Amino acid sequence: VYVGVDVGGTKVLAVEISDTGEVLREAVDSTPGRGDPVSELEDALTRAVEGVADGRPLEGVGVSAAGLVEPTGQTVRFATHLPWREEPVRERLAARWGAPVVLDNDAHCATEAELAYGAGRAAGSFLLVNLGTGIGGGLALDGRVWRGAGGMAGEFGHMQVVPDGLECECGLRGCWEQYCSGRALERVFRVSLGSHLDGPQVSALAREGDEHARRAIATIGTWLGIGMANLVAAFDPALLVVGGGVSAVGDLLLDPAREALSRALVAAPHRTVPPVVPAALGPESGAIGAALLARRHAG
Ligand SMILES: [Zn+2]
Repeated sequence: VYVGVDVGGTKVLAVEISDTGEVLREAVDSTPGRGDPVSELEDALTRAVEGVADGRPLEGVGVSAAGLVEPTGQTVRFATHLPWREEPVRERLAARWGAPVVLDNDAHCATEAELAYGAGRAAGSFLLVNLGTGIGGGLALDGRVWRGAGGMAGEFGHMQVVPDGLECECGLRGCWEQYCSGRALERVFRVSLGSHLDGPQVSALAREGDEHARRAIATIGTWLGIGMANLVAAFDPALLVVGGGVSAVGDLLLDPAREALSRALVAAPHRTVPPVVPAALGPESGAIGAALLARRHAG
């Protein structure tokens, strides 16, 4: 069996998929804190992987990590929410599991999954913008996921959109994800109303028709469109795919984004403005992409 396992900041999700990308079986474990020993994290991964394998021999495992993976896929260099620091993860897990292991960044895995089975299947060239706590991203160009010379391509969330703007966790200022993400949604809602709700709560209110919540989401959507106009100017993709928790509100977010994209994109009346569509695969996309990489690596 080939297994894909996604290692996120709060949970570890392992899946087995069919030839067409459907999830056949899954297992979840919780992610230890970033201050905990590396061995606890790798124990959690092992439990999830073995939960999916269920006694069958492992033929390959793909690991999708929420962190910076160096371009040959040997080492996790740094991960904000995980204890891995310059760790030779691929080799160590392969020895532990007695199976080949492929290691990649989670946004790249999600982009592989959307390219093979999801919203990007027909497009070949598309950009994935994942709105969670921050922004994750990926580029598929001419049918291949572009990882970048250092493995760091797709860090769209840290493009500077406001000089000397809001402080970002990355140490810089004015990053796009400070204006367009789950955390930004919380801030916009808090500033306009003075009440503290988290992103999912604001989204739920918006779906019920609350005007303030809808306006906060439209503000995030407008920033989404502005950032995507910059990405389209640079890459000219056929399609823009929007995923992540915040995108669950659908057109309440995407319509303002489409409007802002058309307004902010260079030569918009003289070109095809790429459609903005929701991601097809949801929160399992990283694990699905990792399973796909494991199988492709073996084949
Ligand atoms: Zn930043």
